[in-house]
Amino acid sequence: MKRTAGQNPEIVKRWRPATQMVRGGTMRTEVGETSEAIFMTSGYCYDNAEEAAARFRGERPGMTYSRLQNPTVEMLEQRIALIEGAEAARATASGMAAMTGMLLSTLSAGDHLVAGRALFGSCRVLVDTILPRFGIETTTVDARDTEAWAKARRPNTKAFFLETPTNPGLDLCDIRAIADIAHDAGALVMVDNAFASPIVQKPLELGADIVAYSATKLMDGQGRVLAGAVCGSAQWMNDTYLAFARHTGPNLSPFNAWVVLKSLETLDLRVRRQCDNALKVAQFLEGRVPRLVYPGLASHPQHDLAMRQMKAGGTIIAMHLDGGRPQAQALLDGLSIIDISNNLGDSRSLMTHPASTTHASVSDAVREEMGITEGMLRLSIGLEDPDDLIEDLDQALKEAGL
Ligand SMILES: *Cc1c(COP(=O)(O)O)cnc(C)c1O
Repeated sequence: MKRTAGQNPEIVKRWRPATQMVRGGTMRTEVGETSEAIFMTSGYCYDNAEEAAARFRGERPGMTYSRLQNPTVEMLEQRIALIEGAEAARATASGMAAMTGMLLSTLSAGDHLVAGRALFGSCRVLVDTILPRFGIETTTVDARDTEAWAKARRPNTKAFFLETPTNPGLDLCDIRAIADIAHDAGALVMVDNAFASPIVQKPLELGADIVAYSATKLMDGQGRVLAGAVCGSAQWMNDTYLAFARHTGPNLSPFNAWVVLKSLETLDLRVRRQCDNALKVAQFLEGRVPRLVYPGLASHPQHDLAMRQMKAGGTIIAMHLDGGRPQAQALLDGLSIIDISNNLGDSRSLMTHPASTTHASVSDAVREEMGITEGMLRLSIGLEDPDDLIEDLDQALKEAGL
């Protein structure tokens, strides 16, 4: 293997983000391929028996097994770490593998976790049901209320877990203020940053300790593969996360790592364009629906915070219709360009009815707590021309009587 400038830490850290996204982490074989190679291999061979023994003793560099190292996956991990500004990153098979690994590697029986109430559906199940089965105490708070985080602390609080903006309600929480409260109590701050992406929000710069992603969303951005990532300090990665993940195996396949690696080359372009499109569509919808939620609009109750901690309003819009589920479904059924789909962060615009899809498995009480009404729709804006999206929404709104 040839190390390119993209693998030299002294050189890459001087590059600007657009260059890091295209060239960071690139390794080349003797063939000199321009596009990164896919190493579809589970294992590695050794020149002689002593070489194998030395690698297993950790005395000689080199790979031993793809649960521990794979060149394609390492290229992706180095590129994600650069984009995030993290000392280390590890890729996982899905966003939920990243969230689970981050939490279970850090928390033990007897520890306490404080989490925001409005979390991605499966994250809420982890916090409410799965972690307590292992003796981990959990408390959920209204994440918008900074004081609520302070009040929820206990002597055994080990970590805070939050998402901002939240799915699907688009509530924000103040990462810097919450991080100060956590650090006073000696707790770590974990942020699920899938909705914003590192282009829009950098939690580590705001005081977070660990950032986790569903790379299925904006990082792949073209609806092809499931993937995830965790980012943090080199020490947490080695001593805590890898001590767990090496043996539990949440690994990303080299093929899926390659797909996401190529997508990162256009992450900055895509996310910026999608945010611009979302703002235009949100401005149109604001005049047409009873309640529209978009952090980039002055009407968002936390617009000032959005402008402080995010570089743009994001790619997701939420709206609440007065006519409940029938009107929401009529709007969905009236769309001709925008697809009915519960995925998000795709180059295609997608709309879903959270109460009957992504959040159907949480109880009515929890849905109410999260602000998910029967008339709520979530719209993920893609790369189409925003004027076509506006025309599509205009005719669908008419179908729904708006
Ligand atoms: C999609 C999503 C996840 C889960 O990711 P998967 O890749 O589907 O496992 C977690 N958090 C948020 C905010 C998400 O949008």
